[in-house]
Amino acid sequence: MPPPVNLFSDTQTTPTPGMRAAIAAAEVGDEQRGADPTVNALCERVAALLGFEAAVFLPSGTMCNEIAIRLHIRPGGEAIYLHRTAHPLHFEAGGPAALSGAVLMALDGPRGTFDAATLEAAIPAPGNRYAPRARLISVEQTTNVAGGRIWSLESVRQVLEVARAHGLRAHLDGARLLNAVVASGVPAHQWAAGFDTAWIDFTKGLGAPVGAVLAGSRELIDEAWRYKQMLGGAMRQAGIIAAGALYALEHHVDRLAEDHALARELAEGLAALEGIALDPSSVETNIVVFEVFDSAAFLEALSERGVAMSSVGPRTVRAVTHLDVDAEGVARAREAARDVLAAS
Ligand SMILES: *Cc1c(COP(=O)(O)O)cnc(C)c1O
Repeated sequence: MPPPVNLFSDTQTTPTPGMRAAIAAAEVGDEQRGADPTVNALCERVAALLGFEAAVFLPSGTMCNEIAIRLHIRPGGEAIYLHRTAHPLHFEAGGPAALSGAVLMALDGPRGTFDAATLEAAIPAPGNRYAPRARLISVEQTTNVAGGRIWSLESVRQVLEVARAHGLRAHLDGARLLNAVVASGVPAHQWAAGFDTAWIDFTKGLGAPVGAVLAGSRELIDEAWRYKQMLGGAMRQAGIIAAGALYALEHHVDRLAEDHALARELAEGLAALEGIALDPSSVETNIVVFEVFDSAAFLEALSERGVAMSSVGPRTVRAVTHLDVDAEGVARAREAARDVLAAS
């Protein structure tokens, strides 16, 4: 049996030999005292990349979202507006409510995005005593559950304009921002312009084992450090993991284009199969989301043929390409899906 083809998630990559060598050679110090040179280099690099004054290294993207929300929201009655499928709403164990006392206001819209008019209509009029107080918007770039879609620069600008007009803060969940950068050719600082906080994850397509970096103004990042300490996210010789992230920035960004090409190839193969509903032109980055009759049954039959994908709904399946999936793997996934559907 050939090795399994793992399209479950781009979080499942393992460090390459080059990354492991960089990790082994990392210079380290006490991170929570600001004395780890590798962490400091990473933070400076990400702050510059995203166009912010400062940045802080955190163990996960979830902690970036949670700390950022805490920075912008005062507990009790303040609302964050985000898409109905957004990560903090579904996958952070209720953190925004538990840690920030935030009210989450889910917005509808196509492809994991919402438009300025939808946001405008959701924000209560000044003086409204009934609604939670509007405080923050969050934009996910690329959209995860919605299938790796890219918000257009124009729609981001329009949504930010509405947020500003109402005095709201803005947060960019850039778990896969660099996928959007590579696919669109728009630099990261341009995508992040106008947001108060933004972060990127190193454990998605970038292929590092641990870490994410949250960026913002010097003042906000100083305050973020307080919550990092509070949540137990302050580390010691964290250069060991930051080295993997730095290596990823140097070696694994441009190659995201390969993941995107393979995702498109996978989508074209799957779309041709009877029993799969999928528009391959909707695939913009490394995530392919499609409909089948029964996702649990489909995934089980697929796994018997050595291919892993994940379910994001009773009929909705997600496949994600990454560093550890090559053209041969994609071809095998297409064949496995064809066999499963032919046998059902
Ligand atoms: C993965 C992900 C996160 C959380 O990041 P972790 O590093 O897994 O904690 C947040 N937002 C989006 C859109 C994600 O895809």
